[in-house]
Amino acid sequence: MELMRAFVAVGRGQFELRQVPVPQVGDDDILIRVKAAAICGSDVHIYDGHMDPLCGYPVIMGHENAGVIVKKGKNVPDRWQVGDRVTSENTVDTCGTCYACITGDYVACEQRRGMGIGADGVLADYVLIPGKILRQVPDVIFHIPDNVTFEQAPLLEPAANGYKAVFQEGRMIAGEHVVVSGAGALGLYSAHMAALGGAARVALLVRRSTDPAKLDIARKLGVTDVLYSDDPDQAAAQMARLTGGFGADLFVETTGVPAVLNLGLRMLHVKGRAVRIAINGTPYGYGLDDITLRSIELIGHMGYNTISWRNTINLAREGRLDLTSIVTHTIPLEQCAHGFDLMVSRQAGKVIVRMDG
Ligand SMILES: [Zn+2]
Ligand SMILES: [Zn+2]
Repeated sequence: MELMRAFVAVGRGQFELRQVPVPQVGDDDILIRVKAAAICGSDVHIYDGHMDPLCGYPVIMGHENAGVIVKKGKNVPDRWQVGDRVTSENTVDTCGTCYACITGDYVACEQRRGMGIGADGVLADYVLIPGKILRQVPDVIFHIPDNVTFEQAPLLEPAANGYKAVFQEGRMIAGEHVVVSGAGALGLYSAHMAALGGAARVALLVRRSTDPAKLDIARKLGVTDVLYSDDPDQAAAQMARLTGGFGADLFVETTGVPAVLNLGLRMLHVKGRAVRIAINGTPYGYGLDDITLRSIELIGHMGYNTISWRNTINLAREGRLDLTSIVTHTIPLEQCAHGFDLMVSRQAGKVIVRMDG
């Protein structure tokens, strides 16, 4: 049996770099040799023991990835060939029949299993793309444009997430005023997408304690104004000033902090739109009459769909997408735990894990 290295969650808060069997490739499956992966905030929730993987232990961690197809089953369509440089989104199974699945929003399928949480992930030498998901979601993997490196391609995943939040859910149009909360990858890529889409102003709402290096990255990605949520009245007044007293058109919430959602809703004009990406178990503890009285639209958001990916990759191919500035550390697979520690202590923007050193 051929073995590979994998960074495995073996129990709550317990992780090991282990030798595990390379997945068997069936007639409909694709095997990818992983070249690079990025650590996601959602992986960190498992690493720090706040969340258990849905599939239980042990499970190989990680989902943001880039690699090369090294094996394919005989029934895999010709568009995928051995040697192709690919990135995959992180769905490995869905029901295929629910409302989410049949409308292309399979990421919201209640029976969906994702890499590193519901099934084995990509922090390993190889990852299997099962034939069943390739039939249900033909674009669950994507070719990486020639000008995008293996180290950059894993960032297409959070970027596609920001794309969906801003354009597909948030329906942003050029010239609008946008406020994004949070300086993690989803916040930064939502802000970047808003800038690429021609937002008049892109304000970033963060805590005063946010690492100044992250704010420098944010400005590179197109953030025009930084507002501090520690002083909500001042932040709201600043936003009002930035928009000539009109209020923001779109708010993208990535922090999960109840007070931050409340503040962002306040910053919107009547009939403004708010998209919530964040996950946080905290109860909210305040009324939502604003939603009624000011006709605010509060939109739930989950991941991306095939269009988010396709258009994000188009932007990357044209060199318009910044897939570099957000990366603060690149480490080998052996140092994976250190990479997670950097994320937990908020010392890192994005950590890229390279499989071949
Ligand atoms: Zn992710
Ligand atoms: Zn479904």
